[in-house]
Amino acid sequence: MGRGLACGAGPRRLAAGLGRHGARSGARLEPGAGTADGALPARDPRAPARTRPRRPVRTAATLVTAAAAPRRHVAVVLHDVAPSRWAGCTRVIAQCQQVARHAGVALPLTLLVVPEMHGEAASPEFLRWLRRQVQLGHELALHGYSHHDDGPRPNSLAEHLLRRWYTDNEGEFAALAHEAAAERLSAGLAWAERHGLPIAGFVAPAWLMSPGAWAAVRAAPFDYTCTLAGVHALPGGEALHARSFVFSTRAAWRRQASLLWNRTLGLVQYRAPLQRFELHPSDCDQASVSRCWSTLLERALRQREPLKMAEAAALARRTGTPPARAAA
Ligand SMILES: [Zn+2]
Repeated sequence: MGRGLACGAGPRRLAAGLGRHGARSGARLEPGAGTADGALPARDPRAPARTRPRRPVRTAATLVTAAAAPRRHVAVVLHDVAPSRWAGCTRVIAQCQQVARHAGVALPLTLLVVPEMHGEAASPEFLRWLRRQVQLGHELALHGYSHHDDGPRPNSLAEHLLRRWYTDNEGEFAALAHEAAAERLSAGLAWAERHGLPIAGFVAPAWLMSPGAWAAVRAAPFDYTCTLAGVHALPGGEALHARSFVFSTRAAWRRQASLLWNRTLGLVQYRAPLQRFELHPSDCDQASVSRCWSTLLERALRQREPLKMAEAAALARRTGTPPARAAA
């Protein structure tokens, strides 16, 4: 499971280097590098030597400022990676890579995989594609087992609204007892192992976890879990507050509200240690939504070092809130 992965080492915008599975987070790219299918770039050995880009002039004042400034990071996570959402996933990954090329960096993603989305089995072609994503340097995390909330009936109006209306019955781990949650986590990990898929963390559908689900996740061999508001390193539980950029595309009014919310969040989170972009396969379907997150992401990539979530968890272990004070 690779607990304790080092956070993207070295100064921001490193010379391109290979990590365990491919390109290292934060690798500096020449503009135009990379491929449309989400591949992180590999240098063609037949290509002529590139001319070194001109370095900006640095004065003593800018050097002092740079040395004093804390390093900031950005993580991009793609939810609902499953056969029925495959086309949307590839569109979002391609858009992320295009934005990263504009910003001149390599951008490894964290892909949240659902073993049997609403009962649908993964095809051999989809599984091959997933293994290819790992080879390209992206990280996989488990995202429920079925992504369907078939837990006990809601016992309050607030719970009913949250589970049946707000998340549209997708919060699979929202109301599960400890044992039921542990069984699904084991089934998901066994599925991943059977298909040769390394799983780094667990993120519940809609980030909703019952107390029993929390206990089951803490006891499972994951590097991290996340809530809407933060990253929780496991097994220690150190938490790093990082409110997510996330878009709602189900209805026009939700779309407009989420555009306004995320633009505001971009201002509020300008100096946050970690920015998280939590994208969904439908986030390239509407031009306004795609434009909004692409603009925010490009700005972040020009100022911050990209991380995969296991690296963000390592950051939480070093700099996050100690477990006793960590809020779920
Ligand atoms: Zn989901």
